[in-house]
Amino acid sequence: MVDPEKTLWHSVVWNRLALPKHNFIAWLYAKERLLTKDRLIKHGLLIDGTCDICSSSNETREHLFFLCPFSNRCLQGLGEWLGVDIPDHDTLDWCRRLKMKSLMKKQLMIAAILALYYQVWWTRNKCRLEMMLPHPQSVIGQIQQLIRSVGNRRLWSVKHRVDSVWCTKVGISLQ
Ligand SMILES: [Zn+2]
Repeated sequence: MVDPEKTLWHSVVWNRLALPKHNFIAWLYAKERLLTKDRLIKHGLLIDGTCDICSSSNETREHLFFLCPFSNRCLQGLGEWLGVDIPDHDTLDWCRRLKMKSLMKKQLMIAAILALYYQVWWTRNKCRLEMMLPHPQSVIGQIQQLIRSVGNRRLWSVKHRVDSVWCTKVGISLQ
């Protein structure tokens, strides 16, 4: 039997323009399987539940994606670049409901957001070990580079589905 919950986020999480590791972290997030500190504590681990990135809240799934000041700034910056207002909660659901004339644009936007899920989780793990926090702009810069390269590689075959004004704005070449 088809799980209705699965079908809701499946098409977003398995976006074909995203890197497999980005798909995977988004899938774990959607399945509520990421081992955030609140879950570890529920499972009996005696650890400090504070978010290692901001040290100002407890680390939960909702806090990391995207109420934590760091991830929230990354999300806002990504939204400014993409030209959309991305909500800081129920973000995957927002992606699912996103209506765009250009399928390519929608897919690239979702790939960028999935990359951010990965980057936030990676940063969270890095902070625990090294106490080093990247600047949100450097995280956004990495995602921009990725999306431009994916866009540039894919555009030749789907020119008819491309929003050329948007592509130029985000730095994807139409040549
Ligand atoms: Zn935080």
